[in-house]
Amino acid sequence: MKKLENPIYVTQPSLPDLQEFIPYLEQIWENKVLTNNGPFHQQLEKELAEFLGIPYISLFANGTLALVTALQVLRITGEVITTPYSFVATTHSLWWNNIKPVFVDIEPQFGNLDPEKIEAAITPKTTAILPVHVYGNPCNVKRIQEIADIYGLKVIYDAAHAFGVKYKGQSIFNYGDLSVLSFHATKVFNTMEGGAIVCHDAATKKRIDYLKNFGFAGETTVMAPGINSKMNEMQAALGLVQLKHYHENIAKRKVIIQTYREQLADIKGISFLPEPENTDSNYAYFPIFVNEKNYGMSRDQLYEKLKQNNIYGRRYFYPLISEFPMYKGLDSANPHNLKTAQHIADKVICLPIYPVLEHFQIQGITKIITSNK
Ligand SMILES: *Cc1c(COP(=O)(O)O)cnc(C)c1O
Repeated sequence: MKKLENPIYVTQPSLPDLQEFIPYLEQIWENKVLTNNGPFHQQLEKELAEFLGIPYISLFANGTLALVTALQVLRITGEVITTPYSFVATTHSLWWNNIKPVFVDIEPQFGNLDPEKIEAAITPKTTAILPVHVYGNPCNVKRIQEIADIYGLKVIYDAAHAFGVKYKGQSIFNYGDLSVLSFHATKVFNTMEGGAIVCHDAATKKRIDYLKNFGFAGETTVMAPGINSKMNEMQAALGLVQLKHYHENIAKRKVIIQTYREQLADIKGISFLPEPENTDSNYAYFPIFVNEKNYGMSRDQLYEKLKQNNIYGRRYFYPLISEFPMYKGLDSANPHNLKTAQHIADKVICLPIYPVLEHFQIQGITKIITSNK
C-alpha cells in the first residue's frame, strides 16, 4: 500500500485542463465584454437550465449574495423559519435583510429541517421558510410545501449542496418558490466563486436580474436598492467547461462513496446516512457520525487522529449556526429547542471526497478509522 505522504483535505476543487479553458479566455480578450450579462453568461444560463431541467436561472457572483437577493425578490420580512444545521451563510442572509431567524430542529434521518416542528414556530410575523438540502439530500419538500400553503408562507431552499440532484425524476430545484445555488470552489460544480437563483417564471427572473444589478430596470429606472452581485464572464466561461465534466466527476464520487460505505459498514460506533429514496444523488459529501460510547473514542479524538495522519476531515456542521455570538441570544437558539441538531453536530465528521481521490488514499483513511482499538 502506498503511504499517505501528502495531506488529504476534505475536498479538492475540480478544474478542467487549462488548455480547454484558454480558447474561452481568448474570446473574452477579443470581445472585451467582461461582465453585465455577456455572451458566456447568457450561454451558461441557457445550458444550465437545459442541463438541470429547470425553466429559469439567474447567475450570481456567489451563493451568499444570491441568498441575500432571493429574500429581497420575494419581499421577505419579519421572521423566517430556518435550520441551525448548515453553513453560516444561510442565516447570515437573513441578518443582512434585517430578518429575525427562527431556528427549528432537524430530523434525525438526514439532518434536514424537521417539518413536524415548523408549525409550532410560526408567529404572525413569519413570512417564509428557509430550509437547506443538507449534503444534497432532499428535504421533505412535500410536507414543507403543505405547511407553507396553509400558513401563506414562501419557501426558499438553500440548495447550495444540491447541484444536479433529482427527486422523483425531476430537479430538486423545481420545489419551493426559489432555490439558491452555490458554485464555490468546494462545491460539486464550481466557477471558482459563483451562485445562482432558480425560479419558475419569467417575471421573477426579470426581478432577480434587476436586483443583482443595482436595481436597474432600464437605462434610467432603478426599482430598488439592488446590490451588485453579477457573475462575470470568466466565471461563466469556466462554468461552461466544468459542465462538460460534471457527469464523469459525479460517477467518480459515487464509486468513492460506495467504497467508504463498504469499508466502514461494520465498525461499531460509526454510522452514516442512508441513501435517500427516489433520489439521483450528487455524492457531494460523506459525513460519518461517531458514537463515542460504542466506538471507544470521541468524535474530536478521531478528528485529531485523522489530522495527525495528514487527513483533514471537516466537522460540517459544528458548531450549529445558533451557537455563533450574533444568534446565540435568540429564544429559538436555546439548545433545548435544537436537541437533534446538537446531537448530530457533536458526532459528525465529513470525510475527504473529490473525484481524483485515489483508492489507496480511501483505504488509508478507512484503515485509520477501523484501527482505533
Ligand atoms: C457554500 C454554501 C453557501 C454559500 O455559498 P458561497 O457561494 O460560498 O457564498 C450557502 N449555504 C450553504 C449551505 C453552503 O454550503
